Amino acid sequence: MELVNDKECSWINDLNSRSNIKTLSSNLNCEWLIIGAGYTGLSAARKLAQLHPNQKIIIVDAQLAGEGASSRNSGYLVDTTLNDGFTSNKEIENYKKKTDIYKLGISAVKRFVKEYQVDCDWNECGKYFASSKEKDKIILENFSETLSKLGFEHNIYYNKHLTKRLGTNFYKIALHTKGGILLHPGKLVRAMIDTLPENVNLYENSQLLNWNKLNDSINFNFKKGSVKTEKAIFATNGFLKSLGIKTNYNFPITLTASMTRPLSDDEFKLIGKPKEWGVLPVKPMGATIRMTKDRRILIRNTAEVHNPYKMSKSELNIRSIKQKIGIKKRFPQFDDNIIQSTWSGVVSRTRNSSQIFEKLDENIFVAGCYNGSGIGVGTLFGEQIAIKASNENTNEIEIIENRNEPKWLPPQPFLNLGVKSRLFYERIRAKSEI
Ligand SMILES: Cc1cc2nc3c(=O)[nH]c(=O)nc-3n(C[C@H](O)[C@H](O)[C@H](O)COP(=O)(O)OP(=O)(O)OC[C@H]3O[C@@H](n4cnc5c(N)ncnc54)[C@H](O)[C@@H]3O)c2cc1C
Repeated sequence: MELVNDKECSWINDLNSRSNIKTLSSNLNCEWLIIGAGYTGLSAARKLAQLHPNQKIIIVDAQLAGEGASSRNSGYLVDTTLNDGFTSNKEIENYKKKTDIYKLGISAVKRFVKEYQVDCDWNECGKYFASSKEKDKIILENFSETLSKLGFEHNIYYNKHLTKRLGTNFYKIALHTKGGILLHPGKLVRAMIDTLPENVNLYENSQLLNWNKLNDSINFNFKKGSVKTEKAIFATNGFLKSLGIKTNYNFPITLTASMTRPLSDDEFKLIGKPKEWGVLPVKPMGATIRMTKDRRILIRNTAEVHNPYKMSKSELNIRSIKQKIGIKKRFPQFDDNIIQSTWSGVVSRTRNSSQIFEKLDENIFVAGCYNGSGIGVGTLFGEQIAIKASNENTNEIEIIENRNEPKWLPPQPFLNLGVKSRLFYERIRAKSEI
């Protein structure tokens, strides 16, 4: 099935269109092939080019590079996540392993941004985990205990502070972590494309159809051409399963988000001119909502099992209505027609929220499954899988490989039934927060 993304994503539409797009239309040979040009694939390409300056590296994407989930996300570079249920001591150890990886992810993005002087609206303003229900204080106090044990700076705030800071009195309680960063995801991934080294050849709008391994070479077939390579890295994240990669360990989830137009001066004044902020939900299916630097409001409040290859305009419109309701709940004073665009994106999940990072077969590697932490962890995993594939080792690889392995998933139709009922249950639990 052909991968066709909508053209509605505000983050992408903020950028200038690219020129010089090359499509794969002949039969090529190379030392290295990367499938997927998001944060993971682009970081892998950059690292391989540094490690092997005289080798030919090809990176291919089914659509325009970076225009998958890497441009379509909410732009939180996270230091911590909630909703993983870490409470006992053993679970704290597991949570620490997770946050150690987030920390390395933040460093990897920071290094890239600094080295290439990238303007991606970087803001170290932290992030809130917020709820409209006072009773969620128990969840946040438990979380606070975990964060204190691990030395994360954070504070709990109540309605009065939150109303002033966020410009809405919807939230009754929130935990703010200092270490999170907000950024423009489209600008970040565009910089990764623009700075690709010279020995990296990027081909776009070229979807991988199938592949096979014959003795020492691996053959990849695209609609109008093929690539024969010595080593390959799969970096297709939400599309790993559909390419037959680790099918019993990951599954795609489709998310949709909407962005408003910039608030007018009057509208902005009405809510107290708040500075940029980002809120994540306390309950997993609640809304992620963010005020951007240029006064737009982004909301994401859906997650579903859906054909990952395409979401039609009418299907997006239905999700947009849910997002309008989410904005109205928090900002009843704004127009009904304030949403400017609604788009979808695909991520990959594992059963225990752990990531995939491994050698699949001789000379074939894969990295993916970051849930809501792919900006940092994808950037990190891309670099590190390139190092691993080059038979080298780093402290980072040791930390990554010390994580819990993804757990085995039941086959279809049990998998979809299980995921759908879990999402349904979580939606009911988070009803007030959507
Ligand atoms: C709405 C939304 C909100 C999110 N919010 C956040 C957030 O705030 N913070 C955060 O850290 N993460 C967030 N995420 C997750 C994050 O975007 C992903 O984890 C990250 O983009 C993964 O990067 P990637 O390079 O591995 O995958 P992708 O960016 O998905 O790149 C994979 C690429 O593979 C290509 N591909 C797929 N199949 C083929 C094929 N057959 N042939 C060739 N190419 C193929 C795709 O076209 C795509 O460009 C969010 C995601 C969404 C959708």
